[in-house]
Amino acid sequence: MLEGLVTTADVAAAERYVEDVLTRTIERSPGEPEFHQALTELLPTLVPALAAHPEYRRLGILERLVEPERMITFRVPWVDDAGRVQVNRGFRVQYNSAIGPYKGGIRFHPTVNASIIKFLGFEQIFKNALTGLAIGGGKGGADFDPKGKSEMEVMRFAQSFMTEFYRHMGPDVDVPAGDIGVGEREVGFLFGQYKRIRGGFEAGAFTGKGLGYGGSLVRKEATGYGCVYFVEEMLRTRNRSFAGSRVVISGSGNVALYAAEKATQLGATVVAMSDSDGYVVDPDGIDVALMKKIKEIRRGRVREYAEARPNARYVPRSAEIWTVPCDIALPSATQNELDLSGAEALIAGGVVAVGECANMPTTLEAIRRLKEADVLFAPGKAANAGGVAVSALEMAQNSMRLSWTFQEVEENLKHIMHSIFRTALATAGQYGVPGDLVAGANIAGFLRVAKAMAAQGVI
Ligand code: NAP
Repeated sequence: MLEGLVTTADVAAAERYVEDVLTRTIERSPGEPEFHQALTELLPTLVPALAAHPEYRRLGILERLVEPERMITFRVPWVDDAGRVQVNRGFRVQYNSAIGPYKGGIRFHPTVNASIIKFLGFEQIFKNALTGLAIGGGKGGADFDPKGKSEMEVMRFAQSFMTEFYRHMGPDVDVPAGDIGVGEREVGFLFGQYKRIRGGFEAGAFTGKGLGYGGSLVRKEATGYGCVYFVEEMLRTRNRSFAGSRVVISGSGNVALYAAEKATQLGATVVAMSDSDGYVVDPDGIDVALMKKIKEIRRGRVREYAEARPNARYVPRSAEIWTVPCDIALPSATQNELDLSGAEALIAGGVVAVGECANMPTTLEAIRRLKEADVLFAPGKAANAGGVAVSALEMAQNSMRLSWTFQEVEENLKHIMHSIFRTALATAGQYGVPGDLVAGANIAGFLRVAKAMAAQGVI
């Protein structure tokens, strides 16, 4: 459709512009490899959009987009059970508010640093735009490890984190949610402290809340379910489906558990799941109810699953999960967990589709290799947008002081995921990269944000 309107000179100018912004941003952000990786994956895919919209170069949209509106770093002191003072580092990147208040999760994990928060926040801008809802991009966290801490230690840490962060957030300013290491328990502690300091019940200031105090049905399930809905649509393009397929899912946290639940409901057999210590293979299909009991209630390890199921086997090396033969792989744990050797192993095992339920779980080399082997690939920005989409539905319910039923929210989620898939596919076709969901998703998200930025002046 755009052919004929865009000249080769436009394309060359767009390529130079992207290269220039990419090089300069990387130079100005030393020591931030995950952020560099996210930029390198995303910016070159925008060339067709920038060639069709030379005005965005004039307006410096890309230079402004890669620079966070604000980045906050703060001290989080707390006292452990032995009475020792501990100090962690808290972060929040308020990346882009062109289409709505900053929105994005909070991660508590020892690996959290400025690079990780910036890559997550940058990707969040495009993911949120793709949902079609009015939410900007942000992300936060701390290098705190909830693993092995008592409940009171987690609470004291969360309260200290919020004692600084409360002044930077609010229902129309910045609305956090959970992420790795921040589930319903941690959201409860964070929201409780926010409410106490603010002196009012601002339900719309936080999402992922418990059902008893403003949370939404399906929020817990949303990212995993949404990812499976997206991949199901993608499989349909090759007359495949989850029914009768073998699925490997890395991780066993919030996203992984509900991806496993939905895949099983759709007739798939989930043959393997993992945590950071190792993975389990269950040829009879993972018993999701048992895995939920171990992980959600007992806060245990996947090793315990193998001890409870006679045919299951435990392998104490989580990175090797991709050697388990499967039709569909859903990386659902963390960034860069699926590298080139993992991709080779999946291809050798007959994989047909890979869906990124986690954020940036696949390295650039692995994505290239999967593409070469004609494996269907669902990028995280699109495929895992279900969590933030239902967070936005939680905000809507909070504003109306109403609660929708499970069916209502799930229908909405399914509709949003299908519409994200169609948008990514159609945009890819429209911009000359048919079938490339990575480029389609990036361009569609970018165009929505760029249009709003252009309308609001140079700010
Ligand atoms: P979670 O509940 O904390 O679970 C994380 C899972 O990943 C755990 O099983 C954890 O195992 C495993 N894991 C963490 N680091 C690992 C490593 N280095 N190697 C192997 N496994 C590792 O977190 P989550 O909410 O499911 O998030 C998972 C991913 O989805 C993240 O990339 C997150 O950003 C993304 N995401 C989440 C949401 C959401 O709504 N929650 C929305 C969009 C995207 P251990 O217990 O051993 O650490």
